[in-house]
Parts: sequence; structure tokens; C-alpha cells
Amino acid sequence: MEFIDESYIASLIDDDKLNDHAIQREAIQKSKEAKGLTLRESAALLNISDPEIAEELFHTAREVKEKIYGNRLVLFAPLYITNLCVNNCLYCAFRKDNKELTRKTLTLDEIKSETEFLVKQGHKRVLLVCGEHPKKSSMEFIGESIKTIYDVNINGGNIRRINANTAPLSIADFKTLKSFGIGTYQCFQETYHYDTYMYMHPEGPKRDYAWRLFAMDRALQAGIDDVGIGALFGLTDYKFETLAMLSHAFNLDQRFGVGPHTISVPRLEPALNAPEANNPPFAVDDESFKKLIAVIRLAVPYTGIILSTRERAELRREFFKVGISQISAGSRTSPGAYNESEENHEMEQFQLGDHRTLDEVVKDCCELDFLPSFCTACYRSERTGDRFMELAKSGNIGKLCMPNALSTFKEYANDFASAATKEAAEKFIIKEVEGLEGATKRKTDEMITRVNSGERDVFF
Ligand code: SF4
Ligand code: SF4
Repeated sequence: MEFIDESYIASLIDDDKLNDHAIQREAIQKSKEAKGLTLRESAALLNISDPEIAEELFHTAREVKEKIYGNRLVLFAPLYITNLCVNNCLYCAFRKDNKELTRKTLTLDEIKSETEFLVKQGHKRVLLVCGEHPKKSSMEFIGESIKTIYDVNINGGNIRRINANTAPLSIADFKTLKSFGIGTYQCFQETYHYDTYMYMHPEGPKRDYAWRLFAMDRALQAGIDDVGIGALFGLTDYKFETLAMLSHAFNLDQRFGVGPHTISVPRLEPALNAPEANNPPFAVDDESFKKLIAVIRLAVPYTGIILSTRERAELRREFFKVGISQISAGSRTSPGAYNESEENHEMEQFQLGDHRTLDEVVKDCCELDFLPSFCTACYRSERTGDRFMELAKSGNIGKLCMPNALSTFKEYANDFASAATKEAAEKFIIKEVEGLEGATKRKTDEMITRVNSGERDVFF
């Protein structure tokens, strides 16, 4: 585990030289090449306190994000299949000692019904989430759940990519998970700080720090191309957490030739009977949170950064601008919640900050000049792992993205948007298509025409 070098990271955080404005500006300048940063350069950027340099950082993070991903924001929704868990994480409402939580594991019929709800909203990507439990989140149940979700099809509307957030698995179980047809495997270390980790996880299988840390190695060895890492901000010093998570990303890249496909940046939110969530030991203020997102964008420019509905709408708008590329929308964080009329705080994992529907988020994105993307083309065209990275690094991914993203957005606008959102979407799509040229424009026009004539799931 030496690649999480706690004393080196601590020395970077304490290094006064990294407060030097010239060093910070040099790192910002280098990051404009979109080739990434070293840990030391990332530490210099995390140390920025001068407001003018902070603005340069934010501006550059947006530029680099747009250079690689354009103005697209990928949308997804989590789907919780059980809230039973054998672990006792001090920041989570699902922890086994929480006797006030109403426990529930969905039946396959209920999973079907939850999926139908999401499909009718227009979602195309789902993140399957479950607690850790030998029976209630067994491989067999996960497999049946995934099949149930993929099988739902309502007039051509369906879930086209399921990512999975499960407890760490053995290589054999990861092979099985891959055979279910998942996209990205996601597992967060929560905190990379060893002592904090041991304190936050007093019992259960999750107490094994190394088993969790090396989950991504096993997933990649099992043939899963895309893995997503993350840290739960607020458990320890955010500078440490960011640098340790980047160390993890660099290490995966060095050893497997491909870094994490995504990095998630959840921030602690209140949760029922979760002492460390309700009183975060290292609460991260909004400005520092924005800064750490920008630093991750510049340090690993080709990695997707995921922001959840933990954050309030007005903050999410700010964070989109500094490098976020994927967001959840219209989320509920308890099993069966999509078919409930209201959020049920007795069953959810944590409280949400953004309660808007998918339709409202989509409209807002258009107004902010972000293209809501429902595209899943890469995964079904086998452009994953290093094949995806090659295209991203050569700058060629945009040629595929715009026709795919715009035609899937048109599908959303035609089938699912409210009148007001449809109007905003139509205007937005026309403006985006007008800005295209040559073969990309021709391909986009052709794909949109096919969508308008009733064809669904148009991609290349
Ligand atoms: Fe279980 Fe995950 Fe919650 Fe821990 S964070 S109690 S492992 S669901
Ligand atoms: Fe994402 Fe690939 Fe679609 Fe581009 S073409 S939006 S990278 S799935």
C-alpha cells in the first residue's frame, strides 16, 4: 500500500514553498496542456489562497474540461436494491447498528417497477447500489437485478448502461459481475487515511483497508475495463484526501495503463443515526470543495468527475463550471423510493441537497449552456478502458460525442421533456448543431433526422 504515502502527502501539505504564487501559476500554466499534473503540482494548487489565482485555477479547469469533454454533462440515477448491511460505518444510515432505519430489500418486481419509473423520466443510465450483505446483496441477486433492469423497455425507452456500486469482490466474483453486462464498477475508499479509516469502520468486512484499496486491481484483472474511485469528503483533511486519491489514480494508470474512468466526490451529508455524518470531523467549506474539484480536473484531465445530488442546486451549478462531467439527477437514496410519493428519511442512506426532478435539471443545464447527455454509445461499441482513453487523449472523442450526445438528447426532448423543457432543449440543440462543421455536422443532422422519424437508440 506504499503508493498511499501518508508522510510524503503530509510533507507536501506542510511545504511552505508550495504557497509560492509563481509555483502555483506555473502549475496552472502546465495544466493547460491537458496532460495532467504531478502530486507536488496538485498540492501547490490545493494550497492556493489568493483569490485571483483561485479564479485562474477555476477558469483553467473549465477550459480543460471543455477541451476534452465539450459542454456535455452525463446524467444518471442511482437505484438502491437493498439497505441491509453488515458493516457499521459511522457516517452511513445503513450501518447495522442503526435500529431506527426501516430495512428493505426490493423484490425483482419492485426493481422492475423502480426501473419503469426511471425509464419514464427519460433516464438511460443507472447506478445500481446495495449495502454489503451475504444474502441480500449476493452475486445471484445482483445478477437477477441487473437482468431485470435491462429487460425493461417502454416504447424504445430503456436503461442502456448499468454501473454497479457494490462491496469489493474477489477476482472470480468480478468476472461474474462483468458477465452481467455492467459498465463501470464503482467503489469508494471513503477515506484513504489509515487511522481514520480504522476509526470510521469499527467492524465488519469493510474494516479491511487493503481489501478495499485493491478492489480496483482485482476488477481490472477480472477484465472490467472501467473502474470508478472516490472519497467521502469530510472524514479527514480534504487536501490529504485529494492527494491520496490522486495517488491511487496515478498508481492504477502506471500499473494497468489506464487510470480510473471516473472519480466521485461525495461530501458528507446528514444521515439518520450516523454520528460522523451529522457532525463531520473535517467539514469541507464550499470554496475548498470547488478548488479540490478543479485540481482533480487538472491533475487527471481524462477522468470523468461525478457529482451527486448531495449538493444543493445552486452549488451544483458552480461546481459544473470547474470540471464536473457526470451528475445524478432526480435521485432517491433508499430502496423503492422512486415509487414513493415523498422522500422517506427512515429508509435513505443520506439526505439530499438537490431535490429537483430530472426534467428540471435538464432545463437548468440548457440554460447554463451545458448539454445534458444520455449517450451510452461507447460502452455498446466497446470503446471502453484503454480504447476510450486513446480516443480521449488524441482529442478525437469529440467527433463521436457530439452526434451521439445530441441525438440522444433529441430523443429525450421528443419523448420525455415537459413543454417548457422541450422548448429549451429544441433551442439548445439547434444552437449546438449550428456550431458544428463538416462530417460531424452531417452525421449529427442525419442521426437527429432518424430520431425525429421515430427511430430510437440511434448511436455509432
Ligand atoms: Fe454499509 Fe456502505 Fe453504509 Fe458502510 S457505507 S454501512 S458498507 S452501505
Ligand atoms: Fe460518452 Fe462515448 Fe457517448 Fe461520447 S460517445 S458521450 S464518450 S458514451
